[in-house]
Amino acid sequence: MRSVVPDYLIEALGDARADTSGALAAYIPELAAADPERLGAVFATVDGEVYGAGDIDTEFTIQSISKPFAYALALADRGFDAVLAKVGVEPSGEAFNQISLESDTGRPLNPMINAGAITAHSLAGSAEMTAAERVQRVVDGLSAFAGRQLTTDTAVCASELEHAHRNLAIAHMLRSHDILTEDPRTVVDGYTRQCSVLVTTRDLAMMAATLANRGINPVSGARVIHEPVVRQVLSVMSTCGMYDAAGDWATQVGIPAKSGVAGGLIGALPGQIGIATFSPRLDRHGNSVRGVSLFERFSSDMGLHVMEVPAAARAVVRSNHVVGAGRDAIRVLELQGGVGFSAAERIVREAVDTAPTEVGVALDLTMVYSIDDVGRRMLLEVVRRLTLDGHEVYLVDPETLVPDPDPGDGGRVTVVKTLEQEQNSSDR
Ligand code: GLN
Repeated sequence: MRSVVPDYLIEALGDARADTSGALAAYIPELAAADPERLGAVFATVDGEVYGAGDIDTEFTIQSISKPFAYALALADRGFDAVLAKVGVEPSGEAFNQISLESDTGRPLNPMINAGAITAHSLAGSAEMTAAERVQRVVDGLSAFAGRQLTTDTAVCASELEHAHRNLAIAHMLRSHDILTEDPRTVVDGYTRQCSVLVTTRDLAMMAATLANRGINPVSGARVIHEPVVRQVLSVMSTCGMYDAAGDWATQVGIPAKSGVAGGLIGALPGQIGIATFSPRLDRHGNSVRGVSLFERFSSDMGLHVMEVPAAARAVVRSNHVVGAGRDAIRVLELQGGVGFSAAERIVREAVDTAPTEVGVALDLTMVYSIDDVGRRMLLEVVRRLTLDGHEVYLVDPETLVPDPDPGDGGRVTVVKTLEQEQNSSDR
């Protein structure tokens, strides 16, 4: 059988191809020379599967899609406080190259507009690095997200630098507020090199999938960035990634995203997939026309909007029954699925409502596939309170989802692999 997904992508691209509206980014002459008909789309799942259609191995410059990744590197290299002191996280609702800074502090509003991105570039790597080392740190960092060594397009870089008056103006303003501490020209040079990193649609999907996969590249398995940084970056992408179209995007597509003026567009759906599209003609916001319509379609066809309320998960308490009889009777709460706060709350409620009369109570995790920290703590508190009520509590945990369970003060628990194991041992 052929997979369904690539055929779906081919069909979506076929429909998108007809739209030839929009224009190439003319302010960077070298970009204006791009082939406007290029079109590609890739889905990369968090478990490393890659589906693509169209021009997925054509290289183009990453441009502003580098911004969330360079911001991630700055956060990793300098820490949150140092970065937040210099770049805010408020949506600006303005164009990407707007010359606007917070009036009192001179801080750029967020790291997705040029002012914030130029600042974030200056914060990647250590403070002691030379400008060239900093560029290398950024290129290597982006490469780790992509899972292969990336290079830069020197022609596009030179072309942009010749016309970089606006970014230079922004950088000089930043320098006057001491947000930048180095020579503004050097920083703009480094930032422009960062924007000139060559990627394919496949690379971009992998970079997005690394964010979707909590910072671990799904193919190389390398941890590129820690989870708190991922959460920060995805949050900023979702509020600021599409500039002055961020509100439309948030409501209609609802996937944390970032666009670039060479025609790339990425979306990262936490825990699910990284998506990338490539089509060079841009709308008035500087976002790829066909890219935006493809994302709208992907989101609605496949219910990818992050605010889509998931169908209530199957009840976490699969059954509540008694095994054995008389003094050996055990009340069993057979649990299933993933256990986070809301599932744990259901378990607590079930235990309270049942008010078991049996001495033995077993919490059976055999069908549970994951349990997070809050789920674990609440479960252990149920164990403790049941012990204090005079129960003998068992945890059926064949996969060791709760290693070394410690129910704390006054709590006691016996861990078994199966309930039969417990019953057999008490028979003897
Ligand atoms: N290098 C471009 C610039 O700074 C990136 C802009 C973009 O992709 N939106 O103007």
